[in-house]
Parts: sequence; structure tokens; C-alpha cells
Amino acid sequence: MMRKEENRMDKSLENLMYRAIEIIYEAESIYIGSHVQPDGDNIGSLLALGMALKKLDKNVKVLKVDNIPDYYEFLPKIELIRDYEIEDNLDLFIALDSSDMERLGIGGQFAKNANTVINIDHHISNTNFGDINIVSPSAAATGELVYEFINRLDVEIDVNMATCLYTAISTDTGSFMYSNTSYKTHLIAAELIKIGIDTSYININLYQKKSLERTRLLIDVLKNMEMHLDNRLGIVVVTQEILNNNNAKMEDTEGIISFIRDIDTIETACLLKEMGENEVKISLRSKEWVDVSKICTKFKGGGHKRAAGCTLYMEIDEAKDTILEEIEMAFR
Ligand code: 5GP
Ligand code: MN
Repeated sequence: MMRKEENRMDKSLENLMYRAIEIIYEAESIYIGSHVQPDGDNIGSLLALGMALKKLDKNVKVLKVDNIPDYYEFLPKIELIRDYEIEDNLDLFIALDSSDMERLGIGGQFAKNANTVINIDHHISNTNFGDINIVSPSAAATGELVYEFINRLDVEIDVNMATCLYTAISTDTGSFMYSNTSYKTHLIAAELIKIGIDTSYININLYQKKSLERTRLLIDVLKNMEMHLDNRLGIVVVTQEILNNNNAKMEDTEGIISFIRDIDTIETACLLKEMGENEVKISLRSKEWVDVSKICTKFKGGGHKRAAGCTLYMEIDEAKDTILEEIEMAFR
């Protein structure tokens, strides 16, 4: 009885979905975009919705706002994500998995030029920047919301779409391990498996194809790990120099922060990435109680309670001191 209740989608969210669907049916041309520094939820959600709208014979364009990490190239129809010239006046922009307009990169311009913006996201820090905001922080991944959304369109989810949605959900839940994973997450995953996806193929591509460069980078970076607050906080830094030394790219830092978080004494893990001169991208993770979204929001970033990020425009050592001070305050 209880479980059936949990399984039902919030009525107001469902109403918003139906309003969005009406707009989609009427739109002549549609752009879909997501946040810069793309991840699995971002790319999987973009591709699944892109494929679904194409099945409806919609003129849909999936916008590339940043480089796609090589390890997502295995996804079906990845070629749908590409560059487009900016248009002055467009019907509809659908933003996926992005908590604010700035995070959309060049997509933010497309959104500003659109008559209507539909915002589908699960970040607690979402600014409700759309005309229609389908925002649910209880969803483990935007892929869950996109699954619900496509189910309400006149489209059957095929194996390619299901592969992308499974990728979205698996990556944003740390393979169904993080606290955002719910009964519903598993139900959706089960439905996707029923459609006929090859979970072994997906898992090998997502988790068992790390390049040697990526592994060497991890080893090198871990050597400089700093522990603070009685070993409850771990900090690692990735400079351009370390990347060069290991012939690695910034996308190869994927997985480093979870490695730190998984140490037994750790509550909070912090990764600082030197993106350029006076530009440091910060990732935070926590295990049980520190709300890292709150910390990142102070620096105009955002995310979730247990995973968040922000950018500090300063030199790397100063950035480290600045974020350390904020994290220490959160521990008090
Ligand atoms: P990551 O550390 O993997 O880059 O991001 C962790 C989570 O925080 C993701 O959900 C991501 O979308 C969000 N996030 C990362 N950086 C930013 C940022 O600069 N601004 C906002 N609003 N969210 C971010
Ligand atoms: Mn997400």
C-alpha cells in the first residue's frame, strides 16, 4: 500500500509535464541543451529526449555546449549532439539537468532567444529559470524525470533510448549506491532492463574502460592528498602540470573524488581543478551529513546535498584556502 503511494508521481509535477507536452506538440522547432562539463545524466537525458522527439517527427536539435568526454562516445546516437548557429527567434528551448541559465553555456543564449523555456531538472539549487519548471530534487537523476516525461508522450521507449536513460540514472546514482537512489529509481531501471538493454555492455563501457592515462593520473594526484579535520576532510588538487605529466585530460579526473570520499574516515571530499589562470573548478562530495550544495551556493555554484560544484576565479592555492575555510565552517 505504502509502496504504491511512493510510486505515484507528484500530481503537480505530472500536470506540468502535460503542459510542457502541449507546448512541444505545437512547437515548430525545438532545441534541447544541458550544462557545460557534461556528465552521464546530462548526455543520456539529452539523447533520450532528442530521440523521443524525433520519433514524433519534431524538428529537434540537440545542442553541444561543451566537449563530450570520450568515454560517453559509446552511447547510441551520440552524433545527435552537435554545434548549431545561434538563432534570434526560436520556438522552444528545453533545458535538462541544469540548475541555472549560466550553467547552459552557449545554450543560455538560445534559451534567452526562445519564446518558451522548459526546465527539467533535479538540482535542489535550481533557480526555476524556465516558463515551465519540472524540477524535482527527489529524483535521483534528470534521467528519471525524462523517463517519466517520455512515457507521457506518444512514443514508445526503444532500446537506444533506454540505454541512454539507464546511463543517466546509473552515473548520477553512483551505480545505484548514493542516498538519492530510491525504490522508484530501481523500478525505472527495471523497466529499462525489460525493454532489452544490454546492462553488461553499458557497465563495461561506463566503468571498466578507464584509460591508462586516467589511472596514472589518479595515482599521481593521490600522492598529494591532504587530510584535514581529523581525517574527515580530504583535498586533492589537479593542476595543468600534473595533467601534462600524465598525458591526461581534465575529463580524466572523473572518479578521483569518489575515491577520496570512499575512505572510511571521510565525510567530505574536495577536488580542485586548475582550469586556467585564475580559474579553479571545485567539486565537493559528502557521505552522510554535510550539505555541500550549501557551500557551493555561496560561490554561485550549486548541486545536490551530497554532490556539488562551483568555480573560484583565483589562483589555486588561494582557492584551496578559501574553500577549506568554508568547509571548516560547515563542520562546526
Ligand atoms: P561535479 O562535481 O561532478 O562537477 O558536479 C556535482 C554536481 O554539482 C552536479 O550535479 C553538477 O551539475 C553540480 N555542479 C557542479 N558545478 C556546478 C556549478 O558551477 N554550478 C552549479 N549550479 N552546479 C554545479
Ligand atoms: Mn544530474
